[in-house]
Amino acid sequence: MEELSHFINGQRVAGTSGRFADVFNPATGEVQARVPLASVEEIDAAVAKAAEAQVEWAKVNPQRRARVMMKFGQLINDHMDELAELVSREHGKTLPDGRGDVQRGLEVIEVCMGAPALLKGEYTNDGGPGIDLYAMRQPLGVVAGITPFNFPAMIPLWKMGPAIAAGNAMILKPSERCPSTSLRLAELIKEAGLPDGILQVVNGDKEAVDALLDHETIQAVGFVGSTPIAQYIYGRACSNGKRAQCFGGAKNHMIVMPDADMDKAADALVGAGFGAAGERCMAISVAVPVGEKTADALVERLVPRIEALKVGPYTAGDDVDFGPVITKASQDRINGLIDSGVDQGADLVVDGRGFSMQGYEDGFFVGPSLFDNVTADMDIYKEEIFGPVLSQVRTETYEEALKLTMDNPYGNGTAIFTADGDTARDFASRVNVGMVGINFPIPVPLSYYSFGGWKKSAFGDLNQYGPDAFKFYTKTKTVTARWFSGIKEGGEFAFKAMD
Ligand code: NAD
Repeated sequence: MEELSHFINGQRVAGTSGRFADVFNPATGEVQARVPLASVEEIDAAVAKAAEAQVEWAKVNPQRRARVMMKFGQLINDHMDELAELVSREHGKTLPDGRGDVQRGLEVIEVCMGAPALLKGEYTNDGGPGIDLYAMRQPLGVVAGITPFNFPAMIPLWKMGPAIAAGNAMILKPSERCPSTSLRLAELIKEAGLPDGILQVVNGDKEAVDALLDHETIQAVGFVGSTPIAQYIYGRACSNGKRAQCFGGAKNHMIVMPDADMDKAADALVGAGFGAAGERCMAISVAVPVGEKTADALVERLVPRIEALKVGPYTAGDDVDFGPVITKASQDRINGLIDSGVDQGADLVVDGRGFSMQGYEDGFFVGPSLFDNVTADMDIYKEEIFGPVLSQVRTETYEEALKLTMDNPYGNGTAIFTADGDTARDFASRVNVGMVGINFPIPVPLSYYSFGGWKKSAFGDLNQYGPDAFKFYTKTKTVTARWFSGIKEGGEFAFKAMD
């Protein structure tokens, strides 16, 4: 069995804690590797080296740092298929989804190639007589990135790109379920010219995370994962005086108006609801048709599309629409939630429980499920299922659909399908959700915007990637300056030197 490592000071190193986690092949249910779980001492050593290396990295001019990003981007492109396969092997998503995972991370690296422009400061000439003011953006020092299992390439790249381009060193703690992609990315960025110690990949669990949260040297924590952990990490990091931005879970609603193109709405719901087995924080998990006729028309179109979905291992090629979920526990939890939906009175129109595939009987597969007549008090509505389950909540009016979306505690993404510009405009302006799609089911902003939800989907006041990330990973220093040699005899200027 493969034994994975950490990536510290420019090389792969074995763990010394003696603790490991199993890394599964979700399609077969077999353990395919084990990953070391770092101890507090290993975290301390990684942080110490990062702090030392960061001093020199901060002095490297922004354009040279951007060149490392440029080379890194090229290498990611050159290794696209290899990285996608690493993602799919541990996550279970299809190879096209694996490539998408790498691609959406690469796009953030492309924006980091423009770091010099994003790091430019401000200047006021003659803010007073002979007085100039300027503000500069300086790196924070050593920062931590803690990432989830569901995008093993994209989210580590969202974290490391802006942090490093801004002159910081990063301790990246990827998900212990999908650690290999981060280790490979660390090798590639080293090959691109990044000095040793600036990106340290430390594998681990709660012990490693808590050590980072409590470490005096760590200046900022960028987290992505489930809401309870996001809230915990935000609280602990902030109470230790660190900057934190912690992105959490989601329950994304898609409103379908009676005037929407029903075929396009159904296609969008199937792609956004079941793609990557629903393991996306921007997955649509709640369809909200307005009016009984709309709801009936939607179900009529959804059922054949969902029944035609092909589930299987990524190795079966492009024919597969989605793969297994991440763990046995996740499979059991999803099946249990489907049971609860039936018990609580929802109509299970397509039942994905009990899915089995010859040769992959022990894989963590769940077939696609569709519920109709779901109500807001049911567990399948309240919980983030994070699996291939779509729930339809019928509403009578647009206002009712909007209220349902707004009353939900999560606020990551939402969408409306309609042919009416006024309705779409009203929705975009009033809804209390961070990312909104108009006839667009998964409105992940392009990499030169920033990504972030509202309500329980994000804690902290800046979004990730794009311009916000460069604000998050730098602090502003403002200088007020004057030069006495410029003051003429007789005091032409109306100020005096301070004591
Ligand atoms: P998770 O919260 O279980 O784990 C995320 C990270 O936190 C991992 O690195 C894990 O090792 C660490 N962790 C887990 N438990 C911890 C604990 N008790 N103390 C300290 N650290 C701990 O999330 P996951 O299951 O890996 O990912 C799925 C979740 O991530 C979903 O809820 C999904 O919606 C969310 N997500 C959110 C976004 C976003 O941008 N909002 C993006 C992707 C995924």
